[in-house]
Amino acid sequence: MARKMLKDGEVAVADGDGADEGSYDYDLFVIGAGSGGVRGSRTSAGFGAKVAICELPFHPISSEWLGGHGGTCVIRGCVPKKILVYGASFRGEFEDSKQFGWEISGDINYNWKKLLENKTQEIVRLNGVYKRILGNSGVTMIEGAGSIVDAHTVEVTQPDGSKQRHTTKHILIATGSRATRVNIPGKELAITSDEALSLEELPKRAVILGGGYIAVEFASIWRGLGAEVDLFYRKELPLRGFDDEMRTIVASNLEGRGIRLHPGTNLTELSKTADGIKVVTDKGDELIADVVLFATGRAPNSNRLNLEAVGVEVDQVGSIKVDEYSRTSVPNIWAVGDVTNRINLTPVALMEATCFSKTVFGGQPIKPDYKDVPCAVFCIPPLSVVGLSEQEALAEAKNDILVYTSSFNPMKNSISKRQEKSVMKLVVDAETDKVLGAAMSGPDAAEIMQGIAVALKAGATKATFDSTVGIHPSAAEEFVTMRTLTRRVSPASKPKTNL
Ligand code: FAD
Repeated sequence: MARKMLKDGEVAVADGDGADEGSYDYDLFVIGAGSGGVRGSRTSAGFGAKVAICELPFHPISSEWLGGHGGTCVIRGCVPKKILVYGASFRGEFEDSKQFGWEISGDINYNWKKLLENKTQEIVRLNGVYKRILGNSGVTMIEGAGSIVDAHTVEVTQPDGSKQRHTTKHILIATGSRATRVNIPGKELAITSDEALSLEELPKRAVILGGGYIAVEFASIWRGLGAEVDLFYRKELPLRGFDDEMRTIVASNLEGRGIRLHPGTNLTELSKTADGIKVVTDKGDELIADVVLFATGRAPNSNRLNLEAVGVEVDQVGSIKVDEYSRTSVPNIWAVGDVTNRINLTPVALMEATCFSKTVFGGQPIKPDYKDVPCAVFCIPPLSVVGLSEQEALAEAKNDILVYTSSFNPMKNSISKRQEKSVMKLVVDAETDKVLGAAMSGPDAAEIMQGIAVALKAGATKATFDSTVGIHPSAAEEFVTMRTLTRRVSPASKPKTNL
């Protein structure tokens, strides 16, 4: 009996099947080489564990049998998306440049295939980098689909259909999630974000269903690259879960950039016509599109892992249930990242995987800390937030909440004449003066918010912000010069909204 695991500083017996530690092929077998899986295997190997990882063969569009080292973030998520956002941002730059004296005569032509080619080259490069990182860390890479046979055995089905079994002391499931489609007639005509990042032709008319961050990002990308974009979502505003005031600003900025918003509207049917895809809404409207994107949510990749048979519990949507250390209901089986559906972001999957390795192989039990996780929506201009929204602060508050806002015309706009405000917001506890949340909509919001996140994590008060010297001239300095209170809100007077 050798399986010992440190938890909260105590040595605990992980399971009691009496198998000998030396009899396993590996100390750790990881299923899925995305953000969480690569980090978990690399750091565990760094602690001296003998590690293997399995991953599906590479392809930009995922399926049950296709994936690739690097996972969603690198191949069909954060990275390719940000490359397209960069590409789309030039439109605004060209427009704005005129008042700065640039004379652009004639048409500015755009070559979508070039961007697509360069994007694909970059993700292929990164896929290679991830494989090299794993190889250099001494991790054994096995290509194929992993599933769990019993608590200490993983079976890998290789692309040629052959199967191999590997025994292991611990299993880490890091299989991520996959885009889902809404069930309406003609749904097969729609694409998901996977295909949207690899379209052969740039659409001229795009319809997007969904109000989340992926939906608004693709709306900005396609609009920036010249398409007519119609964005449909169920609520009154996009970006449910974010601060309501900031959602209003984002909606207005999206409209300002020429995206047509359709709040409170669903799609009911898609059909093929000679002119394109006919889209019917629940308000009885019809329009024709070259591309219809469903950005309506993602489901955990847990259904092909044989979890039920080994007793790993999942919730009603298939997310693997884990404790605060990422341990599943089977003591030596762990899960991190999107498949556990906690906060579905790359840096969070990395944090969970690092904590897993430290806990299991590093002798330093540690739980992931979900407080003040910053994030960004890379629409144009972007939104970035950290900490609590005004609504969350009020819901949790014992004390009154002080709200400071700054809405201003960025210096660049005063020359370019672009009508687009940047907005910043601080949410402060009236008693303790602690800054509970910060948000910004405007150029470089994500770059600015990373520093603000450090301040919040360090427990900064509004007085700390006020005593910080600004960097001038910058938009970021507004965060340290918000002296006038916008409003004081008491938890009792919590505004009721239907956003
Ligand atoms: P993944 O990275 O999805 O990795 C899971 C891996 O497991 C995949 O490679 C898959 O092929 C493999 N796999 C699945 N089943 C098996 C099996 N049976 N056997 C072997 N391998 C298997 N996050 C951000 O932080 N910032 C962003 O800007 C951002 N933008 C995004 C944009 C889009 C369009 C999308 C879709 C996501 C975005 N995300 C972003 C989210 C981010 O990509 C995920 O949170 C992150 O990739 C989760 O990492 P993971 O390790 O849990 O899963």
